[in-house]
Amino acid sequence: MNQNETKLFQANQSGIGCFLTVLLIGLFFGSVGLGWLVNGFLILIAVIILVPSIAFLGLRWWLPRNLVEDQCPVCNYQFTGFNGTQCECPNCGEPIKVESGKFNRLTPPGIIDVQAVEVSPRQLED
Ligand SMILES: [Zn+2]
Repeated sequence: MNQNETKLFQANQSGIGCFLTVLLIGLFFGSVGLGWLVNGFLILIAVIILVPSIAFLGLRWWLPRNLVEDQCPVCNYQFTGFNGTQCECPNCGEPIKVESGKFNRLTPPGIIDVQAVEVSPRQLED
């Protein structure tokens, strides 16, 4: 019992002391009957600290696995896209599907997309 008390005293002198003080204040409030207030406050602090760090770690894990940097198969322009999505080449406007770390054309090779232009008969006569 005496050993535990000296350990607690030593902990108070170190950096953990601040945390222990907060914990003791929390226990005091809990014994008074304001436990709900302390719990709410602690949960709020935990949420404020945990949520951004988890989101940050998740993003750091997710981003390198899904960010793909490759060249456009049509014009060789290098840009980045997310894996498993469809995007358009910012240089030539070719629709591109990002699959397994590579950029692929949505249209099969050999097919050229042509926009039809309507020409009136009078223009041809002139
Ligand atoms: Zn392109």
